[in-house]
Formats: sequence, structure tokens, C-alpha cells
Amino acid sequence: MSKPFLGAHMPTAGGVHNALTSGRTIGCEVVQIFTASPRQWKANPISDETIAKFRVALDATGCRQTIAHDSYLINLAAPPDSEIIGKSRAAFRAELERAEALGLDFLVSHPGAHGGDGEETGIARLIESLDIIHAETEGFQVRTALETTAGQGTYLGGKFEHLAQIIHGVKNPERLCVCLDTCHIFAAGYDIRDTQAYEETMGLFDQIIGIDQLKVIHANDSLKKFGSHADRHAHIGDGEIGLTAFHLLVNDPRMHEKAIVVETPDAETMHEVNVKRLRDLIGADAPLPAAPVLAL
Ligand SMILES: [Zn+2]
Ligand SMILES: [Zn+2]
Repeated sequence: MSKPFLGAHMPTAGGVHNALTSGRTIGCEVVQIFTASPRQWKANPISDETIAKFRVALDATGCRQTIAHDSYLINLAAPPDSEIIGKSRAAFRAELERAEALGLDFLVSHPGAHGGDGEETGIARLIESLDIIHAETEGFQVRTALETTAGQGTYLGGKFEHLAQIIHGVKNPERLCVCLDTCHIFAAGYDIRDTQAYEETMGLFDQIIGIDQLKVIHANDSLKKFGSHADRHAHIGDGEIGLTAFHLLVNDPRMHEKAIVVETPDAETMHEVNVKRLRDLIGADAPLPAAPVLAL
């Protein structure tokens, strides 16, 4: 039977290795982390001690795939003469260096915003940034997973075509792949709430980007309505998307051994519940109503 790997974005208090051990405790087969504060430019490189502890925890937990998410401040599609583009390129290179040092599989990255200069211009700037950074980090094994976005404001990534254009446009497409976020695509106007809608959206993804490029899935329900272009995550089954979509997702043979990561609020109490909700849907005949939230 085909089966995805389930997991969550885990906190790293006390060191990145703790994300693996606490992830294991709540049933994660894959773990996503921030390798530095996502709201600060300043970040320390990864020390040898940190790498060693991470490797030990990786062996001990048997975590199947490891993923980093990049800083929210980075905008690789910013204008070439802006202060932010230099900072963004340096910060993204450092993200790749930390991920590579830890031996992570994927670095999930938001494609950035064009800031009013238009999608084509933004995509061209992003491609230029990626080409420069790829040349500076030649031979790196970690792959950047460009994330679908809700298409809010001038953000790129709200259309599958954007991600296809970026992958086709860079000199080293093998350095890239895609992260599909269920909340974001739903907010961007790709429906997945029933079998027909789900198949149409996945068919479009395959036709435009290629299902082989899909390496990471963010499983988040949506607080906001379909097509709202608003990025607000809800617990699995409690939002506007509903359990049917997640039932279809975890039982989709195309998701076999792909990382499905929960990024919902209240990590400490709710990640375990949300991962279990997804796991309970695997092999289930029909989506059962979400289990009530227990007082944890
Ligand atoms: Zn996401
Ligand atoms: Zn989001």
C-alpha cells in the first residue's frame, strides 16, 4: 500500500536535534524546522557540536526526511537596486549552508514578492537571484522546494505557472523542486474539497509543474474561505477545506513516501492531534469527522 511520511514543523528550543526527538514522541516520520529565527536577519552558522547532536538524533529517531523552512524576511524577487535584495541573497545562501551542514533533504522557500513591478519582472529577478546563489553553492545536495503561496498582495507562487516558469528558467533546475501547501493553494483558488476538485487540481499541478517535482506537502486546513488569498492555517478538518481533501491526499498513491508536514497553530498541544488525524485517514473508507480536541 502506498503511504506518505507524516510529520510536523517542530520547535527547536534547546537545539535543532530536539525537534527530531520531540517529533518522534508525537509520531512524526518527517520533521521540518527553522535553522535560525525566521524573523531576524542575523543567524549563526551551524557549529560542529550542533551537527554531531543532530546526526545522533537522526539515527536514534529514524526520521525519514528532514526539511528546513527559510526566513520570512527573505525576498529573492526584490528590485536589484534595493537594500533588501543583497540581504535576502546573503540570508538565503546562509539558509542553504546551514541546511547542507545538517544534511537536510529540502529547504522550503517562499518565492518572494514583486512589490508592484509585475509577475514577469518578479519571476525574472527571482531566477537571477537563484542562479547567483546556485553558482555560489555548487555541488550542494539539499534541494530548494519552492512553496505555493496564497497569492496575497504581490507575492509570487499563487499560480502553478509561476513555479513552472522559475524551474524552467534557472540554469540548475535539479537544485529545485516544489512544496505544495493545501491552505495556500485553496486560498489561491485551487479547490480540493471533493474528489472531482482534488483530481482537477492535482491534474493541473501535474500538467503545469509535473508531479515528479512535488517533494514536500504542507497539510494545513484554512481558516479563510476558498479563493480568499489569505494565509491563515486551521487544524486538520476544522477549517474551510475539510477532512475529505486530507483523506484524498494521504491515500493518493502519488504521495507515496512524500513528506506531508503539518504547520498548524498551537504546536505544543495540537501537532500530535493533527498528525494523528492525518494518520487515521490512511486506509480509512471515508473521512470520519475530526476527533474532538482533548484537553492536553
Ligand atoms: Zn507552508
Ligand atoms: Zn501559510
